[in-house]
Amino acid sequence: MSVCSGMLTITDFINILHRYYKSPLVQIYELEEHKIETWREIYLQYAHNRLISITPDCSLFDAIYSLLKNKIHRLPVIDPVSGNVLHILTHKRILKFLYIFGSTIPKPRFLQRQIGEVRIGTFRQVATVQESASVYDALSIFVERRVSALPVVNEEGKVVALYSRFDVINLAAQKNYNNLNMTMREAIASRACWVEGVIKCYLHETLDTIIERIAKAEVHRLVLVDNDDVVRGIVSLSDLLQALVLSPADICSRSSL
Ligand code: AMP
Repeated sequence: MSVCSGMLTITDFINILHRYYKSPLVQIYELEEHKIETWREIYLQYAHNRLISITPDCSLFDAIYSLLKNKIHRLPVIDPVSGNVLHILTHKRILKFLYIFGSTIPKPRFLQRQIGEVRIGTFRQVATVQESASVYDALSIFVERRVSALPVVNEEGKVVALYSRFDVINLAAQKNYNNLNMTMREAIASRACWVEGVIKCYLHETLDTIIERIAKAEVHRLVLVDNDDVVRGIVSLSDLLQALVLSPADICSRSSL
């Protein structure tokens, strides 16, 4: 295993694709020839990101705090002596752990309350994308709103699919990144690899039900809809970990940013 000097994630790929797609200076196919080193240099011009990591002696609480405070989706666990990456922690793995091992400890009472009542999640200004919009439009929303997934909606505002940052990898796999003008409808139909799918929840459902659904489906978020399937919110693992772990300790990761 080699010493970790940084992380390149799908978000970086999206930012680079979005930046170069309409650039007159670089042909999009040239991206394949670019070295990661070049990307990093370009990137460092406008990003002052240092690698966020934890060490194996940190607590699970520290890991959750770091993921949420820094709004990142992957947290490397690095050996302080060798600099080796021992593991990469994600929200999904942590929630799964809490879901399995938390069953042995008493559950907080608020888990029995309805999501519409406790309002855990994002209920306003949900970023969505029309199914007739282009993939480039979706990338622009990812870059501007910094959200990790977009409910895809039809003309009536009903959710028909979910397009996540992870789906953008399909563009590279299918060498489709020079065709960002294709519609979301086409992009969704041509997804080759495993698709997270759109898993929904409703305002009247309890937090307990929602946690069970998200943990079992092994997805990162549920789309909150009304009875007509119109998008009303997003309940993401970040929201659940904030409510289950940080809020009881009186820590609000959002306000500390
Ligand atoms: P995530 O990146 O999915 O871990 O979510 C981080 C925060 O962004 C959470 O509070 C989510 O509820 C919120 N969020 C996720 N997706 C969207 C979206 N499409 N529009 C608005 N907020 C979102």
